[in-house]
Amino acid sequence: MTTPVLAIHGGCGAIPKAELTPELDLAARAALERALKAGYAVLEAGGAAIDAVAEAVVVMENDPVFNAGYGAALNKGGFHELDSSIMEGTTGRAGAVAGARRLRNPVLVARRLAGEADPLLLIGEAADAWAQEHGFETVDNSFFTTPSRQEALERMLERERQGTLAAAPERDKHGTVGAVALDRHGHLAAATSTGGYTAKPVGRVGDTPIIGAGTWADDRTCAVSGTGKGELFIRRALGHEIHARMLYQGTPLEEAAHAMIHTEMTALGGGAGLCAVDHEGNVTLPYNTEGMYRGWMKGEELYVAVHED
Ligand code: ASP
Repeated sequence: MTTPVLAIHGGCGAIPKAELTPELDLAARAALERALKAGYAVLEAGGAAIDAVAEAVVVMENDPVFNAGYGAALNKGGFHELDSSIMEGTTGRAGAVAGARRLRNPVLVARRLAGEADPLLLIGEAADAWAQEHGFETVDNSFFTTPSRQEALERMLERERQGTLAAAPERDKHGTVGAVALDRHGHLAAATSTGGYTAKPVGRVGDTPIIGAGTWADDRTCAVSGTGKGELFIRRALGHEIHARMLYQGTPLEEAAHAMIHTEMTALGGGAGLCAVDHEGNVTLPYNTEGMYRGWMKGEELYVAVHED
């Protein structure tokens, strides 16, 4: 029996250290801890990695500290389009939703889709309708809006008018939540959920619902969940690339993941981060931004962090 491992991220667009008040810091850490404990309880009870990652992501989707579910980023049209996916590493089953507007917990719908023969990925209104038909909670799109996301949208639109978009701080650009797990039976899974980036074009889909880009799991190698400039994750098939380097080159997880974030993504000029676990339970949480909400749990050990410590 393997000691279960769970690792999570709450996005690589963490508030800069200088601006992080003790209250915000505490709230973020408490939220990460809640997510870890909820997911880990599933693993401790002998549950499947895919259920543990869904559980951890639900806790973060429900917390407005993070850009996913309630408190997700607003697009340029002033509304929310939510992306999520999940994958398990034994059979390669996966499920995903993109551009959903009314799913209270997008990851739960992705989880259910992973149990279906098909479809694997549903978009927009079709995703909302499918979820409703299958008994999932749906809400009005305005449910996801918080004052701080509204302010972030206004700041980004103002930057667009002024032509200073590129200089926007990472925290206004990024956010996503994700979890990876190794269960007692040696199975891996990954799940990711996001509102995308603030002021993204209507209909834009990032890496989060794209299997092989923002989410990947294979029992032979690793489980990966990404955060950061989604277009670059898609262009590099980042999750799958880490898996491939491990499988075909024998590269250890840490080395493969760090190379993708610190060499590839940095060279492309994108803020990026990820959480990953390999089939032996090794965890890595690289990021190239100022901070990334992150943590892991293994047995009695629990770690959470926002910046470098
Ligand atoms: N990866 C997400 C996206 O591109 C956003 C983020 O993590 O910052 O939609």
